[in-house]
Amino acid sequence: MSVAVPSHNELVIERDVPIATWFKIGGRAERFAKPRSVDELAQCVRLDPELRVLGDGANLLVHDDGVAELVVELAEPCWKRIEIDARTGRVVAGAGALLQRLIKSTIDAGLAGIEGLGGIPATVGGAAIMNAGGKFGQIGDVVQCVRGIDRAGIDVVRDRREIAFDYRRSGLNDIIITSVELMLRPSDAAALKVKHREVMAYKKDSQPLAADSAGCVFKNPALATDLDGIGAKGARVSAGMLIDRAGCKGLSVGGATVSDRHGNFIVTAPGCRAADVLGLMDLVTQRVTDAFGVKIEPEIVIWRREP
Ligand SMILES: Cc1cc2nc3c(=O)[nH]c(=O)nc-3n(C[C@H](O)[C@H](O)[C@H](O)COP(=O)(O)OP(=O)(O)OC[C@H]3O[C@@H](n4cnc5c(N)ncnc54)[C@H](O)[C@@H]3O)c2cc1C
Repeated sequence: MSVAVPSHNELVIERDVPIATWFKIGGRAERFAKPRSVDELAQCVRLDPELRVLGDGANLLVHDDGVAELVVELAEPCWKRIEIDARTGRVVAGAGALLQRLIKSTIDAGLAGIEGLGGIPATVGGAAIMNAGGKFGQIGDVVQCVRGIDRAGIDVVRDRREIAFDYRRSGLNDIIITSVELMLRPSDAAALKVKHREVMAYKKDSQPLAADSAGCVFKNPALATDLDGIGAKGARVSAGMLIDRAGCKGLSVGGATVSDRHGNFIVTAPGCRAADVLGLMDLVTQRVTDAFGVKIEPEIVIWRREP
């Protein structure tokens, strides 16, 4: 049961709150807050400098025991604002805005650069932290700067030259992102809509979008040596392909199953526990290592209690 406990200056801290993720499983937050301003966010940091930020929960597995740190969600309207300058291509979006809403707005404004991220569930903050993307581009390519606060509650601005965007990483994990500035290119809205539809069709065709999952569970590994029929040393190869070829499609632990549609998706059934997903991840990792000598690493973020 969740009980709202007002603390000083009206910041509301709720207790024992479920953490909403796309896996639709996992533990709860002992303490949970939805700050309504930068001041309230700074208060949250003072209450718990180790706080965790919940985005859309699309890349997140929360251990069944939940977490002790304060969990903060930027869900209030003040974190969801989107400003678009269609002439210059400058776009500023609050970290809590949904990426898919931002994509629609920028396409409507005739701005190119993020239409290839169609179908990726995320908040703008979560997308920037994870450098969300894939076959059709990644958000880091168009980020100009990121604003946020650090763990001491100090305002931070990171210019793109200071951000180490790489495959599914940004190096921004030390800050709580409050907004992201993008530079997009003026373009033809009708052509962008066509491109966006193509991207969505590709996703629907290759991914189990109706099932409960967190998208790709493992990062595509870079090969340490040449592998016959797989790729050359240094090449980044599809983890889904390795998982498929290791015979893992359809493999289950409890309520967690490797999708038949896409080897890198683990889908959960009602009653599934986070421990089932973690057990299945271990099994898949072992089978891929045994088959190819390649160690695959998680792409999803796993929240668990520190020992
Ligand atoms: C069906 C499906 C398809 C997917 N396809 C793709 C894909 O094609 N490409 C891809 O890259 N990903 C994909 N994903 C994964 C997911 O969409 C991305 O990783 C996305 O960026 C997660 O954003 P989020 O807001 O949900 O973050 P969350 O999952 O809520 O959090 C992820 C991490 O970001 C941190 N975080 C979130 N917001 C902030 C903030 N404001 N400040 C600081 N830290 C923050 C969290 O603390 C956590 O560590 C898919 C997921 C699903 C369910």
